[in-house]
Amino acid sequence: MTDPLLDYENDLPVDLDPVDITAYKSGNTGIDYLHTLDSGQPGPHVLISAVVHGNELCGAIAADWLLQQKVMPIAGRLSVGFMNVAAYLSYDPGHPNRSRWVDEDFNRLWGPGVLDDPDRKVTSEVQRAREIRPFLDNVDLLLDIHSMQQPCLPLMMAGMVAKGLVLAAKVGLPATVVTDKGHNEGMRMRDYNAFRDPDSPRNALLIECGQHWEVSSAEMAKAVMVRFLHATAIMASDFGAGTLKSYTSPQGQNFYRVDEVVTIETNAFVFDQQWTGFEHLAKGTLIGHDGPRAIVAPFEPTVLIMPTRRLYPGKTAVRLAQPITPND
Ligand SMILES: [Zn+2]
Repeated sequence: MTDPLLDYENDLPVDLDPVDITAYKSGNTGIDYLHTLDSGQPGPHVLISAVVHGNELCGAIAADWLLQQKVMPIAGRLSVGFMNVAAYLSYDPGHPNRSRWVDEDFNRLWGPGVLDDPDRKVTSEVQRAREIRPFLDNVDLLLDIHSMQQPCLPLMMAGMVAKGLVLAAKVGLPATVVTDKGHNEGMRMRDYNAFRDPDSPRNALLIECGQHWEVSSAEMAKAVMVRFLHATAIMASDFGAGTLKSYTSPQGQNFYRVDEVVTIETNAFVFDQQWTGFEHLAKGTLIGHDGPRAIVAPFEPTVLIMPTRRLYPGKTAVRLAQPITPND
C-alpha cells in the first residue's frame, strides 16, 4: 500500500496479530472469502462482516473464531464474510495504517448508483464491492465489525433510522449507541439500500470495538457478535456462552445522535487538542480550525465521535453528537 493519505505515523502500541484467513478463500457461496451456514429452516439471513477496513484486525479475529466453532444455526442462515481482503492481506505491523484500503475506502461506495457508475474508476474496492453486492442484496441482518484509530470506548453505530436503535438495544452491548446520517464523502455498507429504509425489516449495525490494535477490541468483537447472533434468534441458546463471561449486560445503554458532521474543506485543518473521541464539551468550546474557519461545539453538551487523524479535504474530521433517549 503506497497511498500517502494512509502513511501517517502510528504512535500506538500494536498488540493484536492478524489471523491467517487464506484458508477461507474458497467458500461455498461462489464468492471468495464468503461462507454461508444454512440451517435448512426458515429464518433470517444474517451476515457477520469483517475487514471492510483492512487494518481493523478485531473483525477478522472474531470471524475466524466463529468459523472455527463449527456450529450450525438452528434457524435461517449464518454467513461470514471478509470484505476488503486485498487490503487486509497487505497488513504490515510496522506500518499498520497503510492496509486500510488498496485504492479507496470500501465503506464509502454504497450510495445509490455509485457501483453502477460507468465513469467510476474500477478500483480494487469497487471490484470487490461489485462482487459482494448481489450477496448483500439477500442479507436480512448485518453486523459489520470495525475498530477505531484512537483508544475510545466501544460504540455501536446504529445507522440513520430508528430501527437501528431498536436492534442495538436488543443486542444490549456495548453501552454506547450512536445514530447518525453517515458521511458526506460516501455511504457506508451498513446504510446500503434496504438497511436504511425505515419501512424494510432488513437491518444493520456497525460496531466500533475499540482501538484497532488493542486486545480488548477483539474480545469486544466476539462478545458483540455472539450477542448479535442471539438477538437474531438463529443460534442455539447456549451458543458462545464462554465468550460472554466478562461481558455481562451493561447497566443500561446510553444513546447519542450525531447532528453535525465536520467535513474537511481545506488543506489546513487542525484540531485544537488531540481529541480521542467521546469528550463531552460545553457549547462554544473550540474544537479546531479548518483554515480560517473556527469549529466550535454547537450543542450543550457536544460529544465528539471518532475524530480522525487523516486530515485532508473531503474527509470527515469528527462527528458532533448529543445525548438522546431512543424515542427522540
Ligand atoms: Zn472501519
